[in-house]
Amino acid sequence: MAFDVAAVRAQFPILTGDGPVPRLHYLDNGATAQIPRAVLDAMAAHETTARANVHRSVHRLAEAATRAYEGARESVARFVGAQASQVVFTSGTTSAINLVAHAFGARLGPGDEVLISTLEHHSNIVPWQLLRDRNGIVLKALPATTDGRMDLDRLDDLVTERTRLIALTHAANVTGAVTDVARVVTAARAAGAEVLLDGAQMVPHGPLDVPALGVGFYCFSGHKMFGPNGIGVLWGRSDLLESMPPFMGGGEMIAHVSLEQTSYAAPPMRFEAGTPPITPAIGLAAAADWLSAQDLAGAETHLKNLTAQLIDGLSGMQGVSLVGPAGTQARMPVVSFTMDPLHPHDVAQILDSHGVAVRGGHHCAQPYMDSRDIAGTVRASLALYNDADDVEALLRGLREVRALL
Ligand code: PMP
Repeated sequence: MAFDVAAVRAQFPILTGDGPVPRLHYLDNGATAQIPRAVLDAMAAHETTARANVHRSVHRLAEAATRAYEGARESVARFVGAQASQVVFTSGTTSAINLVAHAFGARLGPGDEVLISTLEHHSNIVPWQLLRDRNGIVLKALPATTDGRMDLDRLDDLVTERTRLIALTHAANVTGAVTDVARVVTAARAAGAEVLLDGAQMVPHGPLDVPALGVGFYCFSGHKMFGPNGIGVLWGRSDLLESMPPFMGGGEMIAHVSLEQTSYAAPPMRFEAGTPPITPAIGLAAAADWLSAQDLAGAETHLKNLTAQLIDGLSGMQGVSLVGPAGTQARMPVVSFTMDPLHPHDVAQILDSHGVAVRGGHHCAQPYMDSRDIAGTVRASLALYNDADDVEALLRGLREVRALL
């Protein structure tokens, strides 16, 4: 049976066109995806039946809240094939990477090397630069190939016996290129290094067996996978989490506190200081359950077809250059391009007046833009509720932009 995109779309109140937002061609899912009714309902149900703080009081509401929060952790753990104790709730991918840069980074010192790539989001660059400035580590970067992938041929000369961590995106947010994780893990193992993957653009496409990837850390954000914002996940291998000191101090993360010193709780609580994002965690679990229940094989084919339709349409257009792989293999449904002589912001602005939401700019990936000598790109990033009409509306809008020039 063909993938029923209309049935998926109907579950997203903002996309139906009968609410306050008119029919919108929403192609900015890489920035934030929309939220289905099931997730909104799960959060509303929690707020109206079990709102209380967690791991503290013993009254029944507090116990219900704790059960719901820890139940959410179990659902999210199932979604990534992991144990609940390996799932740390954070406020998003950015805070998950910062957590690792502090807690894992605490034992790195002068001469230790961290390898990133030119294709990283700023959230997987700046925390390592801060660590370099704090601890004197050496920060290196894999270059990108001309078709917007990481140049993994350079692993051989960039990974050394001083490499402690290879921190890379699983799927690049500008080009959609998917990283060959097995190759990275092989290189890391040979050097005795750990691997961190930024899964922000990967996880919205379905459940994963994260432990089977062979990496040490995996990070993602709720708002890009049809969940709420303010919530994300750091998955960590148990031995790594157990060996790391806390990042932030406060309530929740302790075993015992005296005025002189503190002993810490075991992971994951060691890394969750303060009142956690309880309702967002419940929403994230609902999003993981919702996504797992979709026809994901059908969605994958559907999105490949839309990506091909988009790339085809762009290919014939005067002044348009693709920034990223030319095909649909080993790439997410993210398509970036430039439109000479316009600035990407201007293209995005004009498309908005046609009811098409895309992002124009550097996409928090300035080093990659610099490496291409461009100010930015226009980026269309698709989710499973997008359809051929959305892609056609984008192409039509671009043809009209062309006609204005
Ligand atoms: N990494 C990648 C690849 C991303 O696309 C993004 C979001 N644009 C982030 C990290 C940061 O995610 P967040 O802002 O949710 O922390």
